[in-house]
Amino acid sequence: MGYDIQPTASHFIDGAYVEDTAGTPIPVICPVSEQEIARVYAATPAVIEQALAAAKRAQVAWAAMTGTERGRVLRRAADLIRERNYDLSVLETNDTGKPLQETLVADATSAADALEYFGGIAGSLTGEHVQLGEDFVYTRREALGVCVGIGAWNYPTQIAAWKGAPALACGNAMVFKPSETTPLCALKVAEILHEAGAPAGIYNVVQGMGEVGHALITDPRVAKVSLTGSVPTGRKVYAAAAEGIRHVTMELGGKSPMVIFDDATLEDAVGGAILGNFYSSGQVCSNGTRVFVQKGIKEAFLKRLSERLADVKMGDPLDETVNFGPLVNARQLEIVQGFIAKGIDEGARLVCGGQREDMSGYFLQPTVFADVTDDMTIAREEIFGPVLSVLDFEDEAEVLARANDTEFGLAAGVFTNDIGRAHRMAAGFEAGTCYINTYNLAPVEAPFGGSKLSGVGRENSKNAVDHYSEMKSVYVAMTPVEAPF
Ligand code: NAD
Repeated sequence: MGYDIQPTASHFIDGAYVEDTAGTPIPVICPVSEQEIARVYAATPAVIEQALAAAKRAQVAWAAMTGTERGRVLRRAADLIRERNYDLSVLETNDTGKPLQETLVADATSAADALEYFGGIAGSLTGEHVQLGEDFVYTRREALGVCVGIGAWNYPTQIAAWKGAPALACGNAMVFKPSETTPLCALKVAEILHEAGAPAGIYNVVQGMGEVGHALITDPRVAKVSLTGSVPTGRKVYAAAAEGIRHVTMELGGKSPMVIFDDATLEDAVGGAILGNFYSSGQVCSNGTRVFVQKGIKEAFLKRLSERLADVKMGDPLDETVNFGPLVNARQLEIVQGFIAKGIDEGARLVCGGQREDMSGYFLQPTVFADVTDDMTIAREEIFGPVLSVLDFEDEAEVLARANDTEFGLAAGVFTNDIGRAHRMAAGFEAGTCYINTYNLAPVEAPFGGSKLSGVGRENSKNAVDHYSEMKSVYVAMTPVEAPF
């Protein structure tokens, strides 16, 4: 049967779909047909108010439930998501253009993992006891209150759950604003959470552009903001949150290095470079787009990469044999084409790709540049498209310094069979998420996030709990109070 692409209504508030067509229309454009396939409306001030009021009201009772009770809701939602994975994946493919071959294994399933993981640990979130002679202190791990989540367009289902699951496990309520480019999938996450037993108002979705995000994060009822987006947006959101000293998690952009030493296993290095540059047509924040390749392996690497890129199959992303989709919209295509032109102008050697594909949709060929130098624009700025840059290097100290010579610090990877070097590189990388002999895996059990301009805080793992709760200390005196007079 499948889901209708046009959602029941634009927003999901207080356990139900809500429509208000007075808001700015947001057309959803299919990245393949380039036609409008659905339409939602940005939240009006009345809708924003309704969402925040519902979240504020619902949060107190939700936090008063036991962690095990809250966790049960999340785990039920995870099961429902897995049961409906196919339909949710089709919706995600329509929302983003990513191939169904990918969305079937990386999107709703990742959301389910987050709900299952945080549902599983919700019952064991505790404070501690600190003995001080006869007196003691105990700490209470308390919810923050109403949390706002703001999403990017590349992983709409996953982002909605990666923020929602830890927030709800800790006893918070959430108001989530998806990217205006991909507004459809988060509504399903909200719908399923409520079907699984989340009380009305615990997870709300409101649509809109930056103004709606800004209105949410500056509201005095909001205790925390978690953004997934670009660095320029991160700066604005962080500053707005600072006004009210709100907690923040910032998952921002990157320009991550991948370092391939002569002694690497060639096939793994090429596979890692493909995963780290062309999955989701390159629209992944943690991509290793600066591929440093040591001289001795460079020609073999480029040859094998070109051979494997011949297996790229573009086409209708709903065809499960297609493994490479279009970019998300016309604007992103234009941005990426602009970077490719700059790469050529600045003297990089185009090894393959570089052209828009001659078919309907925002398809751009996987593109590889060689002879890229550190100062070129394509080596310095986040492109967010299928463009891989190969840079040459001679030795370990030199490559580590160059890998770190960036304002970003999201991820980094090394391919080598020298175990000591692998760990030295991982320790030396200025990045929040590092890989040895693989790339771009993000299991819910491991912390994920960035250093430097790439972000603040971590998602996933037990670590995320610290970003959605705070500790209250309670000093308990067992002895008479001693005062100076
Ligand atoms: P974006 O920064 O343009 O928008 C992100 C979100 O912020 C959108 O929902 C947008 O409506 C909202 N927004 C914009 N201005 C705002 C404001 N002033 N106040 C509040 N909200 C505002 O990013 P995008 O183009 O949607 O996504 C691509 C970017 O996201 C890339 O830079 C990518 O690296 C990054 N990203 C990071 C991660 C991560 O986990 N680190 C994951 C995915 C994407």
